[in-house]
Amino acid sequence: MELKNLKEHTRTLATLAESDTEVISCYLALAKGRLTNRNAFDEQVRSLKLGLTGKDRSDFETALERIEAYLKTEVLPDAKGIALFSRSGAEPFFLPLQFRIPLPNWVAVDTTPNIYHLVELKDTYHRYVVMISTEESVRILEVNLGAVTEELWKERPELRKRVGREWTKDHYQNHRRNRTEKFIKEKINILDRLMSAGGYGHLILAGNPRMTAGVRDELPKHLLTKLVDVVPAASKTSVADVVEATIASFIEEEERDSRLAVDELVQAVNTGGLAVCGTEPVFRALERGQVDTLILAKAYEPDKGWQCTVCDIMNVNREEPEKCPECGASELRGFEVNEEMVRLAEREGCEIEVVEHSDELRLLGGVGCLLRYRLPEEFLLGPGEPSHVTVHECSAGQ
Ligand SMILES: [Zn+2]
Repeated sequence: MELKNLKEHTRTLATLAESDTEVISCYLALAKGRLTNRNAFDEQVRSLKLGLTGKDRSDFETALERIEAYLKTEVLPDAKGIALFSRSGAEPFFLPLQFRIPLPNWVAVDTTPNIYHLVELKDTYHRYVVMISTEESVRILEVNLGAVTEELWKERPELRKRVGREWTKDHYQNHRRNRTEKFIKEKINILDRLMSAGGYGHLILAGNPRMTAGVRDELPKHLLTKLVDVVPAASKTSVADVVEATIASFIEEEERDSRLAVDELVQAVNTGGLAVCGTEPVFRALERGQVDTLILAKAYEPDKGWQCTVCDIMNVNREEPEKCPECGASELRGFEVNEEMVRLAEREGCEIEVVEHSDELRLLGGVGCLLRYRLPEEFLLGPGEPSHVTVHECSAGQ
């Protein structure tokens, strides 16, 4: 699975029209082509089934059969995680997605697909280029959603073989020094061309520390700004292990990006800028399509919201009443607020940042967003009013 495809699939899922049949969303960890915890999956399915009766139950069972059939025959041997979305009924839908990164074991049934885990995955693993340099070889790889998807370039100079055959040792040493410099310059040219042709935004250098230092010193400015990290590796380290190390480093970098987004949010909130925070204000901004970037704490767990299925109003800050306060209908349904937030954000094409640890974000209610614009009626704070009013609203929203 590549990032580009994941983006498309997430959008498909976020915009899937509801039918009168519910969708099973299922995230599973895999090892060697099998579920790592079959019992937990069976248990989750059993408890979901208990809550369903009549047609809902038979629809659920039909959708589940499709999932089971797929798991039996289609799981890739090197997949570490799979997400499956299945709906039966008059408008059937089925989408399986396999990954080389683990996913949590989690099953749900709802009117729309649950995409939160996919969004989190998309935010954590991007695509980037790794250049592995040793004294003997240079390899340039593309890593996409945690897996090497393409060897972009490889060279193993045959230089060493010539020692003793044609050259004296001194001649060789001298030649090697000059050659290393030239070698590095050539490789950087290749790297530059590959990165701009592939539209890559991130680079990690790995390998022999002397070689990576040499490469780093020679990087032109526009590549230096794309450099995420330099990861030392002994020449005997396997490519798989080097890539593993770069993934860890990349995830740390992604966390730094997330914290920068939080800083921007805090700054905007404290100065009455283009941002809101807390469950209710963020939800409303998403509904109005005002959001540029949605920022969620990984630990953000708001109470359930509810929606009236007759007049469609949605509420995220009051307990579910007996009857809809707008139209008086009693057909209300509960929904997961963070799921609905990421779904709205995906539909609008917003950036989404999922933040691992942040006390600042926790104090703001665990969720916030940077806005594209403000509605006229939202210019309520006069210039003389203290900015902490905005902050106060935030804590009240949670
Ligand atoms: Zn209503």
